[in-house]
Amino acid sequence: MTSTAAPLTGAGERMLALASRLFPLCRSITGDGVRETLREVAGRIPLEIHEVPSGTQVLDWTVPDEWNIRDAYIATADGRRVVDFGESNLHVVSYSEPVRAEMALADLRPYLHVHAERPDWIPYRTSYYTRSWGFCLSRNQLETLEDGTYVVVIDSTLAPGSLTYGECFLPGQSEAEILLTTHVCHPSLANDNVSGIVVLTELGAALSELPRRYSYRLLFIPGTIGSVTWLARNESGLSRVIGGVVIACAGDSAPLTYKRSRRGDAAVDRAGAHVVERSGGRILDFVPWGWDERQFNSPGFDIPVGCLTRSLEGEFPEYHSSADDLDLIGAERLETALQAALEILDVLEHDRAYRNLSPKGEPQLGKRGLYRGLGGPDPGTEQLALLWVLNQSDGAHTLLDIAERSGLAFSDVRRAAAALLEAGLLAEGP
Ligand SMILES: [Zn+2]
Repeated sequence: MTSTAAPLTGAGERMLALASRLFPLCRSITGDGVRETLREVAGRIPLEIHEVPSGTQVLDWTVPDEWNIRDAYIATADGRRVVDFGESNLHVVSYSEPVRAEMALADLRPYLHVHAERPDWIPYRTSYYTRSWGFCLSRNQLETLEDGTYVVVIDSTLAPGSLTYGECFLPGQSEAEILLTTHVCHPSLANDNVSGIVVLTELGAALSELPRRYSYRLLFIPGTIGSVTWLARNESGLSRVIGGVVIACAGDSAPLTYKRSRRGDAAVDRAGAHVVERSGGRILDFVPWGWDERQFNSPGFDIPVGCLTRSLEGEFPEYHSSADDLDLIGAERLETALQAALEILDVLEHDRAYRNLSPKGEPQLGKRGLYRGLGGPDPGTEQLALLWVLNQSDGAHTLLDIAERSGLAFSDVRRAAAALLEAGLLAEGP
Protein backbone atom coordinates (compact mmCIF):
# COMPACT_ATOMS: atom_id res chain seq x y z
CA MET A 1 0.00 0.00 0.00
CA THR A 2 2.03 2.89 -1.23
CA SER A 3 -0.71 5.46 -1.44
CA THR A 4 -4.07 5.70 0.24
CA ALA A 5 -5.00 9.01 -1.37
CA ALA A 6 -6.17 7.99 -4.81
CA PRO A 7 -8.91 5.49 -3.86
CA LEU A 8 -10.46 8.04 -1.51
CA THR A 9 -11.36 10.59 -4.17
CA GLY A 10 -15.12 11.02 -3.91
CA ALA A 11 -15.40 8.24 -1.32
CA GLY A 12 -17.53 10.28 1.11
CA GLU A 13 -20.16 11.01 -1.53
CA ARG A 14 -20.11 7.43 -2.80
CA MET A 15 -20.64 6.15 0.75
CA LEU A 16 -23.52 8.57 1.37
CA ALA A 17 -25.17 7.53 -1.90
CA LEU A 18 -24.92 3.85 -0.96
CA ALA A 19 -26.18 4.67 2.54
CA SER A 20 -29.29 6.31 1.12
CA ARG A 21 -30.03 3.19 -0.97
CA LEU A 22 -29.45 0.85 1.98
CA PHE A 23 -31.31 2.91 4.58
CA PRO A 24 -34.92 2.02 3.61
CA LEU A 25 -34.31 -1.76 3.50
CA CYS A 26 -35.87 -3.82 6.28
CA ARG A 27 -32.85 -5.76 7.47
CA SER A 28 -32.90 -8.29 10.28
CA ILE A 29 -30.67 -11.22 11.23
CA THR A 30 -32.14 -13.20 8.30
CA GLY A 31 -34.40 -12.52 5.33
CA ASP A 32 -34.67 -10.61 2.10
CA GLY A 33 -33.57 -7.27 3.62
CA VAL A 34 -30.11 -8.77 4.20
CA ARG A 35 -30.06 -10.24 0.68
CA GLU A 36 -30.99 -6.90 -0.92
CA THR A 37 -28.33 -5.19 1.20
CA LEU A 38 -25.67 -7.65 0.04
CA ARG A 39 -26.79 -7.18 -3.58
CA GLU A 40 -26.09 -3.45 -3.22
CA VAL A 41 -22.66 -4.15 -1.68
CA ALA A 42 -21.93 -6.64 -4.48
CA GLY A 43 -22.46 -3.80 -6.96
CA ARG A 44 -19.26 -2.24 -5.62
CA ILE A 45 -17.02 -5.15 -4.53
CA PRO A 46 -16.86 -8.88 -5.37
CA LEU A 47 -18.98 -10.64 -2.78
CA GLU A 48 -19.65 -14.32 -2.23
CA ILE A 49 -23.12 -14.84 -0.74
CA HIS A 50 -23.55 -17.72 1.71
CA GLU A 51 -26.90 -19.22 2.74
CA VAL A 52 -26.87 -21.34 5.91
CA PRO A 53 -30.08 -23.35 6.49
CA SER A 54 -32.28 -22.71 9.52
CA GLY A 55 -31.70 -25.34 12.18
CA THR A 56 -27.94 -25.62 11.48
CA GLN A 57 -26.04 -26.03 14.73
CA VAL A 58 -23.32 -23.35 14.98
CA LEU A 59 -21.16 -23.51 18.12
CA ASP A 60 -23.63 -23.17 21.02
CA TRP A 61 -26.28 -21.59 18.78
CA THR A 62 -28.81 -22.72 16.17
CA VAL A 63 -29.47 -20.79 12.96
CA PRO A 64 -33.02 -19.49 13.50
CA ASP A 65 -35.99 -19.60 11.18
CA GLU A 66 -35.94 -16.96 8.47
CA TRP A 67 -38.06 -13.85 8.97
CA ASN A 68 -39.66 -11.83 6.18
CA ILE A 69 -42.29 -9.15 6.34
CA ARG A 70 -44.50 -7.60 3.66
CA ASP A 71 -46.83 -5.31 5.60
CA ALA A 72 -48.00 -4.47 9.11
CA TYR A 73 -50.36 -1.97 10.61
CA ILE A 74 -52.72 -1.04 13.38
CA ALA A 75 -55.96 0.35 11.97
CA THR A 76 -59.16 1.77 13.40
CA ALA A 77 -62.40 -0.15 12.89
CA ASP A 78 -63.15 2.05 9.86
CA GLY A 79 -59.83 1.12 8.22
CA ARG A 80 -57.66 4.16 9.00
CA ARG A 81 -54.05 3.07 9.62
CA VAL A 82 -52.75 4.68 12.82
CA VAL A 83 -49.43 2.78 12.85
CA ASP A 84 -48.06 1.74 9.46
CA PHE A 85 -44.98 -0.36 8.65
CA GLY A 86 -45.03 1.34 5.23
CA GLU A 87 -44.04 4.62 6.89
CA SER A 88 -41.18 3.19 8.96
CA ASN A 89 -39.91 -0.35 9.28
CA LEU A 90 -39.04 0.44 12.90
CA HIS A 91 -42.78 0.27 13.66
CA VAL A 92 -42.65 -3.53 13.89
CA VAL A 93 -40.61 -5.44 16.46
CA SER A 94 -38.06 -7.33 14.35
CA TYR A 95 -38.86 -11.06 14.13
CA SER A 96 -42.53 -10.49 15.02
CA GLU A 97 -44.57 -13.60 14.29
CA PRO A 98 -47.62 -13.14 12.03
CA VAL A 99 -50.72 -11.63 13.64
CA ARG A 100 -54.24 -10.94 12.42
CA ALA A 101 -56.55 -9.83 15.23
CA GLU A 102 -59.06 -7.33 16.49
CA MET A 103 -58.09 -6.02 19.88
CA ALA A 104 -59.25 -3.44 22.39
CA LEU A 105 -56.61 -0.77 23.02
CA ALA A 106 -56.23 -1.99 26.62
CA ASP A 107 -55.33 -5.50 25.38
CA LEU A 108 -53.05 -4.12 22.69
CA ARG A 109 -51.01 -1.90 25.04
CA PRO A 110 -48.59 -4.64 26.27
CA TYR A 111 -47.53 -5.09 22.62
CA LEU A 112 -46.80 -1.39 22.08
CA HIS A 113 -43.32 0.01 22.79
CA VAL A 114 -42.31 3.66 23.08
CA HIS A 115 -38.95 5.40 23.55
CA ALA A 116 -38.03 5.78 27.22
CA GLU A 117 -36.91 9.39 26.94
CA ARG A 118 -37.99 11.10 23.73
CA PRO A 119 -41.73 11.41 23.03
CA ASP A 120 -41.18 11.97 19.29
CA TRP A 121 -38.83 9.06 18.55
CA ILE A 122 -39.78 5.49 17.57
CA PRO A 123 -37.64 2.91 19.38
CA TYR A 124 -36.02 -0.10 17.64
CA ARG A 125 -36.86 -3.45 19.24
CA THR A 126 -36.15 -7.07 18.36
CA SER A 127 -37.30 -10.47 19.56
CA TYR A 128 -35.05 -12.88 17.70
CA TYR A 129 -34.94 -15.86 19.99
CA THR A 130 -38.30 -15.60 21.81
CA ARG A 131 -41.43 -15.94 19.67
CA SER A 132 -43.37 -12.74 20.13
CA TRP A 133 -44.75 -9.75 18.26
CA GLY A 134 -45.12 -6.06 18.84
CA PHE A 135 -45.25 -2.55 17.46
CA CYS A 136 -43.00 0.43 18.20
CA LEU A 137 -44.32 3.97 17.99
CA SER A 138 -43.63 7.40 19.37
CA ARG A 139 -45.17 8.32 22.69
CA ASN A 140 -46.89 11.22 20.95
CA GLN A 141 -48.44 8.80 18.49
CA LEU A 142 -49.56 6.47 21.28
CA GLU A 143 -51.26 9.33 23.06
CA THR A 144 -53.46 10.07 20.05
CA LEU A 145 -54.95 6.55 20.11
CA GLU A 146 -58.47 6.59 21.46
CA ASP A 147 -60.05 3.73 23.38
CA GLY A 148 -61.82 1.27 21.14
CA THR A 149 -61.14 -1.75 18.99
CA TYR A 150 -58.28 -1.90 16.50
CA VAL A 151 -57.43 -4.18 13.62
CA VAL A 152 -53.91 -5.51 14.15
CA VAL A 153 -52.05 -7.07 11.22
CA ILE A 154 -48.48 -8.29 10.90
CA ASP A 155 -48.08 -9.95 7.51
CA SER A 156 -44.81 -11.74 8.22
CA THR A 157 -43.42 -15.22 7.82
CA LEU A 158 -41.20 -16.94 10.33
CA ALA A 159 -40.30 -20.28 8.81
CA PRO A 160 -37.36 -22.52 7.90
CA GLY A 161 -35.17 -20.77 5.35
CA SER A 162 -31.59 -19.61 5.78
CA LEU A 163 -29.23 -17.10 7.28
CA THR A 164 -27.44 -15.00 4.67
CA TYR A 165 -24.01 -13.40 4.88
CA GLY A 166 -21.53 -11.95 2.43
CA GLU A 167 -17.80 -12.55 2.18
CA CYS A 168 -15.23 -10.69 0.06
CA PHE A 169 -11.78 -12.29 -0.11
CA LEU A 170 -8.85 -10.24 -1.39
CA PRO A 171 -5.74 -12.41 -1.65
CA GLY A 172 -2.34 -10.95 -0.81
CA GLN A 173 1.27 -12.17 -1.12
CA SER A 174 0.87 -14.00 2.17
CA GLU A 175 -1.83 -16.46 3.21
CA ALA A 176 -1.97 -14.67 6.58
CA GLU A 177 -5.35 -13.01 6.76
CA ILE A 178 -6.85 -9.90 8.27
CA LEU A 179 -10.59 -9.96 9.00
CA LEU A 180 -12.67 -6.84 8.47
CA THR A 181 -16.29 -7.16 9.53
CA THR A 182 -19.52 -5.26 10.00
CA HIS A 183 -23.04 -6.23 11.00
CA VAL A 184 -25.87 -6.04 8.45
CA CYS A 185 -28.92 -6.75 10.62
CA HIS A 186 -30.45 -3.38 11.55
CA PRO A 187 -33.36 -1.92 9.54
CA SER A 188 -33.67 1.84 8.86
CA LEU A 189 -30.92 3.00 11.22
CA ALA A 190 -28.11 5.07 9.75
CA ASN A 191 -25.18 5.31 12.13
CA ASP A 192 -25.84 1.91 13.69
CA ASN A 193 -25.85 0.24 11.12
CA VAL A 194 -25.70 1.59 7.57
CA SER A 195 -22.51 3.61 8.21
CA GLY A 196 -20.50 0.47 8.99
CA ILE A 197 -21.72 -1.26 5.84
CA VAL A 198 -20.77 1.63 3.55
CA VAL A 199 -17.34 2.18 5.12
CA LEU A 200 -16.49 -1.53 4.89
CA THR A 201 -17.70 -1.63 1.27
CA GLU A 202 -15.57 1.36 0.28
CA LEU A 203 -12.63 -0.07 2.25
CA GLY A 204 -12.94 -3.26 0.21
CA ALA A 205 -12.99 -1.27 -3.02
CA ALA A 206 -9.88 0.67 -1.94
CA LEU A 207 -8.00 -2.45 -0.81
CA SER A 208 -8.76 -4.24 -4.05
CA GLU A 209 -6.78 -1.52 -5.90
CA LEU A 210 -3.73 -1.66 -3.64
CA PRO A 211 -0.82 -4.11 -3.55
CA ARG A 212 -1.31 -6.39 -0.55
CA ARG A 213 1.18 -8.19 1.67
CA TYR A 214 -1.66 -9.77 3.67
CA SER A 215 -4.87 -11.34 2.47
CA TYR A 216 -8.10 -9.65 3.53
CA ARG A 217 -11.45 -11.19 4.28
CA LEU A 218 -14.39 -8.80 4.56
CA LEU A 219 -17.48 -10.17 6.30
CA PHE A 220 -20.93 -8.61 6.05
CA ILE A 221 -22.75 -10.59 8.73
CA PRO A 222 -25.84 -10.37 10.91
CA GLY A 223 -24.79 -9.45 14.47
CA THR A 224 -23.76 -12.26 16.84
CA ILE A 225 -25.41 -15.18 15.01
CA GLY A 226 -23.53 -14.19 11.84
CA SER A 227 -20.07 -14.19 13.41
CA VAL A 228 -20.90 -17.34 15.40
CA THR A 229 -22.00 -19.00 12.13
CA TRP A 230 -18.90 -17.86 10.23
CA LEU A 231 -16.58 -19.03 13.02
CA ALA A 232 -18.32 -22.43 13.20
CA ARG A 233 -17.98 -22.93 9.42
CA ASN A 234 -14.38 -21.73 9.17
CA GLU A 235 -12.76 -23.07 12.31
CA SER A 236 -10.15 -25.12 10.43
CA GLY A 237 -8.77 -22.03 8.67
CA LEU A 238 -8.61 -19.70 11.65
CA SER A 239 -4.88 -20.20 12.24
CA ARG A 240 -4.34 -18.03 9.13
CA VAL A 241 -6.15 -15.08 10.74
CA ILE A 242 -3.67 -12.76 12.43
CA GLY A 243 -6.21 -10.17 13.55
CA GLY A 244 -9.01 -7.96 12.45
CA VAL A 245 -11.19 -4.93 12.90
CA VAL A 246 -14.95 -4.60 13.36
CA ILE A 247 -16.24 -1.40 11.78
CA ALA A 248 -19.47 0.13 13.09
CA CYS A 249 -21.07 3.49 13.95
CA ALA A 250 -18.66 5.38 11.70
CA GLY A 251 -20.73 8.38 10.64
CA ASP A 252 -21.78 10.37 13.72
CA SER A 253 -20.00 13.32 15.32
CA ALA A 254 -18.19 11.41 18.10
CA PRO A 255 -14.39 11.26 17.83
CA LEU A 256 -12.80 8.29 16.09
CA THR A 257 -12.49 5.45 18.58
CA TYR A 258 -10.39 2.30 18.61
CA LYS A 259 -11.36 -0.42 21.07
CA ARG A 260 -8.58 -2.91 21.71
CA SER A 261 -8.90 -6.66 21.31
CA ARG A 262 -8.97 -9.02 24.29
CA ARG A 263 -5.18 -9.42 24.01
CA GLY A 264 -4.80 -5.66 24.08
CA ASP A 265 -1.29 -5.56 22.61
CA ALA A 266 -1.71 -7.42 19.33
CA ALA A 267 -0.28 -5.90 16.15
CA VAL A 268 -3.72 -4.60 15.17
CA ASP A 269 -4.12 -2.97 18.59
CA ARG A 270 -0.82 -1.17 18.32
CA ALA A 271 -1.62 -0.05 14.77
CA GLY A 272 -5.15 1.02 15.77
CA ALA A 273 -3.93 2.95 18.80
CA HIS A 274 -1.15 4.65 16.85
CA VAL A 275 -3.42 5.86 14.05
CA VAL A 276 -6.47 6.84 16.11
CA GLU A 277 -4.50 8.52 18.88
CA ARG A 278 -2.68 10.69 16.35
CA SER A 279 -6.00 11.68 14.78
CA GLY A 280 -7.15 13.00 18.15
CA GLY A 281 -9.45 10.05 18.80
CA ARG A 282 -10.02 7.73 21.75
CA ILE A 283 -8.34 4.44 22.62
CA LEU A 284 -10.40 2.13 24.81
CA ASP A 285 -9.60 -1.17 26.43
CA PHE A 286 -11.46 -4.34 25.54
CA VAL A 287 -14.78 -5.11 27.17
CA PRO A 288 -16.86 -8.15 26.19
CA TRP A 289 -19.66 -5.86 25.05
CA GLY A 290 -20.28 -4.24 21.70
CA TRP A 291 -20.53 -6.00 18.34
CA ASP A 292 -19.05 -9.13 16.77
CA GLU A 293 -15.62 -8.58 18.35
CA ARG A 294 -17.11 -10.45 21.33
CA GLN A 295 -17.26 -13.67 19.31
CA PHE A 296 -13.83 -13.38 17.65
CA ASN A 297 -12.24 -12.55 21.01
CA SER A 298 -13.94 -15.39 22.92
CA PRO A 299 -11.27 -17.45 24.72
CA GLY A 300 -11.65 -20.52 22.48
CA PHE A 301 -10.69 -18.44 19.43
CA ASP A 302 -8.84 -15.45 20.91
CA ILE A 303 -8.45 -13.80 17.52
CA PRO A 304 -7.28 -10.24 18.15
CA VAL A 305 -10.12 -8.25 16.62
CA GLY A 306 -10.44 -4.61 17.61
CA CYS A 307 -13.22 -2.22 16.83
CA LEU A 308 -13.11 1.04 14.88
CA THR A 309 -16.05 3.33 15.57
CA ARG A 310 -17.02 6.85 16.42
CA SER A 311 -19.76 6.36 19.04
CA LEU A 312 -19.83 3.06 20.85
CA GLU A 313 -22.92 0.88 21.03
CA GLY A 314 -25.54 2.80 23.00
CA GLU A 315 -23.38 5.88 23.43
CA PHE A 316 -25.29 8.39 21.29
CA PRO A 317 -28.78 9.57 22.24
CA GLU A 318 -30.32 8.63 18.89
CA TYR A 319 -29.05 5.02 19.23
CA HIS A 320 -31.64 2.38 18.26
CA SER A 321 -34.34 4.93 17.49
CA SER A 322 -35.90 6.64 14.48
CA ALA A 323 -33.64 9.64 15.15
CA ASP A 324 -30.67 7.58 13.94
CA ASP A 325 -31.48 8.63 10.39
CA LEU A 326 -29.40 9.77 7.42
CA ASP A 327 -29.09 13.30 8.88
CA LEU A 328 -26.92 11.84 11.63
CA ILE A 329 -24.13 10.69 9.31
CA GLY A 330 -21.88 12.91 7.21
CA ALA A 331 -19.73 12.27 4.13
CA GLU A 332 -16.62 13.78 5.70
CA ARG A 333 -16.98 11.75 8.90
CA LEU A 334 -17.43 8.54 6.94
CA GLU A 335 -14.39 9.46 4.90
CA THR A 336 -12.12 10.10 7.89
CA ALA A 337 -13.22 6.77 9.39
CA LEU A 338 -12.34 5.08 6.08
CA GLN A 339 -9.01 6.90 6.01
CA ALA A 340 -8.24 5.72 9.57
CA ALA A 341 -9.06 2.13 8.63
CA LEU A 342 -6.74 2.35 5.62
CA GLU A 343 -3.96 3.86 7.75
CA ILE A 344 -4.29 1.08 10.34
CA LEU A 345 -3.94 -1.49 7.57
CA ASP A 346 -1.07 0.49 6.08
CA VAL A 347 0.80 0.14 9.39
CA LEU A 348 0.17 -3.63 9.44
CA GLU A 349 1.26 -3.94 5.82
CA HIS A 350 4.55 -2.07 6.23
CA ASP A 351 5.68 -2.68 9.78
CA ARG A 352 8.94 -4.61 9.76
CA ALA A 353 12.46 -4.48 11.17
CA TYR A 354 15.52 -3.21 9.29
CA ARG A 355 19.24 -3.29 9.86
CA ASN A 356 21.46 -0.21 9.65
CA LEU A 357 24.29 -1.15 7.24
CA SER A 358 26.51 1.68 8.50
CA PRO A 359 25.92 1.39 12.23
CA LYS A 360 29.24 2.76 13.54
CA GLY A 361 28.61 6.47 13.96
CA GLU A 362 26.04 8.25 11.86
CA PRO A 363 26.52 7.75 8.14
CA GLN A 364 27.13 10.95 6.26
CA LEU A 365 23.71 11.78 4.87
CA GLY A 366 24.80 14.85 2.88
CA LYS A 367 26.89 12.92 0.39
CA ARG A 368 23.93 10.65 -0.26
CA GLY A 369 21.56 13.54 -0.87
CA LEU A 370 19.63 12.81 2.30
CA TYR A 371 20.69 15.73 4.46
CA ARG A 372 17.70 18.08 4.34
CA GLY A 373 17.40 16.78 0.84
CA LEU A 374 13.99 15.22 1.06
CA GLY A 375 12.11 18.46 0.48
CA GLY A 376 8.53 18.70 1.66
CA PRO A 377 6.93 21.15 4.05
CA ASP A 378 8.65 19.93 7.23
CA PRO A 379 12.29 19.00 6.68
CA GLY A 380 12.85 18.91 10.46
CA THR A 381 10.56 15.95 10.91
CA GLU A 382 11.99 14.18 7.91
CA GLN A 383 15.55 14.67 9.14
CA LEU A 384 14.63 13.44 12.59
CA ALA A 385 12.84 10.41 11.15
CA LEU A 386 16.01 9.44 9.20
CA LEU A 387 18.08 9.64 12.38
CA TRP A 388 15.54 7.65 14.41
CA VAL A 389 15.37 4.91 11.81
CA LEU A 390 19.18 4.71 11.57
CA ASN A 391 19.54 4.69 15.32
CA GLN A 392 16.92 2.05 16.06
CA SER A 393 17.44 -0.24 13.09
CA ASP A 394 19.42 -2.99 14.80
CA GLY A 395 17.18 -5.69 13.37
CA ALA A 396 15.14 -5.91 16.56
CA HIS A 397 13.02 -2.75 16.40
CA THR A 398 10.27 -2.44 13.81
CA LEU A 399 9.10 0.79 12.18
CA LEU A 400 6.10 0.91 14.54
CA ASP A 401 8.44 0.49 17.53
CA ILE A 402 10.38 3.48 16.18
CA ALA A 403 7.21 5.53 15.59
CA GLU A 404 5.99 4.81 19.12
CA ARG A 405 9.32 5.64 20.75
CA SER A 406 9.97 8.78 18.69
CA GLY A 407 6.43 10.16 18.72
CA LEU A 408 6.62 10.46 14.92
CA ALA A 409 3.86 9.30 12.61
CA PHE A 410 4.31 5.81 11.18
CA SER A 411 4.01 7.30 7.70
CA ASP A 412 7.02 9.61 8.35
CA VAL A 413 9.09 6.74 9.72
CA ARG A 414 8.14 4.55 6.79
CA ARG A 415 9.09 7.26 4.29
CA ALA A 416 12.48 7.68 5.99
CA ALA A 417 13.10 3.92 5.90
CA ALA A 418 12.28 3.84 2.19
CA ALA A 419 14.78 6.66 1.51
CA LEU A 420 17.50 4.93 3.56
CA LEU A 421 16.82 1.62 1.85
CA GLU A 422 17.16 3.32 -1.53
CA ALA A 423 20.46 4.89 -0.43
CA GLY A 424 21.82 1.49 0.52
CA LEU A 425 22.02 2.36 4.21
CA LEU A 426 19.38 -0.12 5.34
CA ALA A 427 18.59 -3.76 4.75
CA GLU A 428 15.45 -5.61 5.55
CA GLY A 429 15.36 -8.17 8.35
CA PRO A 430 17.25 -8.83 11.55
ZN1 LIG B 1 -27.33 -1.97 17.23
